[in-house]
Amino acid sequence: MSSSFDVIVIGGGFLGLSSAYELAKQGAQVLLLEAGDIGSGTSASCSGRAQVCEGHLDPLNIQLIVDGLQKHEVLEEELGQSYDWRKIGLYLIIRTQSSWDYWQNRAATLTMQGIPTQVVDQKTLQTAEPNMNTNGLLGAVHTVEGMINPLKFSLAYASAARKYGAVIQGHSRVTNFEMNKNRVVAVQTRNERYTCDKVAVMTGAMVSETLKLAGASLPVQYTHAEAVVTEPIPPMIFNNIEISDFYETIHGKQRAVAIGVHPDLHGSIDISEAVTVTDHFHKNVSAWGITALAKELIELYPFMSKVRVVRSWGRPTSFTPDEEPIIGWMPQLENVFVATSLVETITAVPILSEWMAMMMLDKNSPTSLDQFAPSRFTL
Ligand SMILES: Cc1cc2nc3c(=O)[nH]c(=O)nc-3n(C[C@H](O)[C@H](O)[C@H](O)COP(=O)(O)OP(=O)(O)OC[C@H]3O[C@@H](n4cnc5c(N)ncnc54)[C@H](O)[C@@H]3O)c2cc1C
Repeated sequence: MSSSFDVIVIGGGFLGLSSAYELAKQGAQVLLLEAGDIGSGTSASCSGRAQVCEGHLDPLNIQLIVDGLQKHEVLEEELGQSYDWRKIGLYLIIRTQSSWDYWQNRAATLTMQGIPTQVVDQKTLQTAEPNMNTNGLLGAVHTVEGMINPLKFSLAYASAARKYGAVIQGHSRVTNFEMNKNRVVAVQTRNERYTCDKVAVMTGAMVSETLKLAGASLPVQYTHAEAVVTEPIPPMIFNNIEISDFYETIHGKQRAVAIGVHPDLHGSIDISEAVTVTDHFHKNVSAWGITALAKELIELYPFMSKVRVVRSWGRPTSFTPDEEPIIGWMPQLENVFVATSLVETITAVPILSEWMAMMMLDKNSPTSLDQFAPSRFTL
């Protein structure tokens, strides 16, 4: 194996793997270094929803959603591997009048932008989800979103990247950068040293830690999110279900539960997320998290009190001060590209990765990503 590359991508999650694929497809010599197993970071913990209506509604984010959904329709064929892409109904349950009013406006805007969304009353919600306890609920936001298997999605990108010649390496934590002034000239793991022209830092919640190795910083923060999955059950939940004020519920709290429920293809129910503020990265779950999730879930779906949880996990989930992603070249460094903290990651990744690869290879991306530039926090 060559030890010199056009681009070294650090981080083997959705962002790193999709970028490695696009870079290799566009002709670059690529090495991806992942600290653990491929796709085992936050990407492994996610619910697999290709969300369409919860992010910012500016033109760029809308374009990423609309074009991203279209790309998913053909991406499995392009990558040569299935990741269980499918469409499914979404109901965001509305519990307060202010949320009802907010979503009336938002649903109209989304529909106008090509993402058909409506606010439905309690009776319609009950018809769609006959086993839900809708007492006290005002109704829900209804739309159709996409669904994938997160691990298969990561592995499909890894395998397609390898077919284009990319080297995708797990269990290779980057421990040091060798600098020449403000340029990274080599990347080191515990046992190896690789030289490169450019570096892409895509280490999710760990981006700040990784950038410190190059003497740079960005205000990427994270909280810790726990989730559980149940044994397979007969069909009792028919749509993706989430609370309409999901992000408001968790932000700024030391501990909070924001319920999201998703049936998988084999009948298991994926339940997220119990969130805690943490000062260090870890993958643990807590007695509090599982209990708090169960309590909220059983209130919503009383039959779930009889269903067994078979697995639980926890991962960091990152965000930036303005809740927009960070994507672009690091201003203080000559050859370091960074991407982290997307909101609708799965939906946007097929389009964004192509554009990011173009930027890294000094081509113009079809749409400017300037609004996500790291310089908004560093200048
Ligand atoms: C419970 C939960 C549910 C979610 N559900 C959804 C959902 O339904 N839809 C959606 O779109 N998003 C969802 N998300 C968010 C989504 O999971 C993330 O946005 C996405 O996985 C981030 O991908 P990433 O590639 O940026 O980061 P990661 O997947 O975390 O990848 C970064 C990788 O970098 C590696 N790394 C770190 N430091 C180093 C180093 N020094 N050297 C080498 N490697 C390193 C890590 O091991 C990690 O694998 C959810 C998140 C959580 C927590």
